[in-house]
Amino acid sequence: MYSQDSISGRRRGRPEPTAEMLSGLACLICGTDFRHASAPEAVVVSHRDDGQLLACHGTCARMASGSVDGLDEPPLPLAERVRRHRADGS
Ligand SMILES: [Zn+2]
Repeated sequence: MYSQDSISGRRRGRPEPTAEMLSGLACLICGTDFRHASAPEAVVVSHRDDGQLLACHGTCARMASGSVDGLDEPPLPLAERVRRHRADGS
C-alpha cells in the first residue's frame, strides 16, 4: 500500500534497501555497487529471508553488524549473487 508520504518523497529515517542491496550486490550502508572492479571487499553483515546482506569491509560492516569483519560467514560468489538477482528481478 502506498502512503502519501512516500509518494511525495518525504523520508523518515533510513531509506529502504534497494533490490541490489537485498541481492548482496550493493553495500547495505553506503550503496557501493560490488559489481564494480574498484569496489571494496564485501562481507556478510545480515540476512534477509534466505539471502545475505553485504557491506564494505571496514566502517560499513561495523555500522551494519558491529564488527568490521561482519558475520563469520563467507559471502556467495559475485557471479552467483548476480544470477540470483536476475532470476529474482522484474
Ligand atoms: Zn559501504
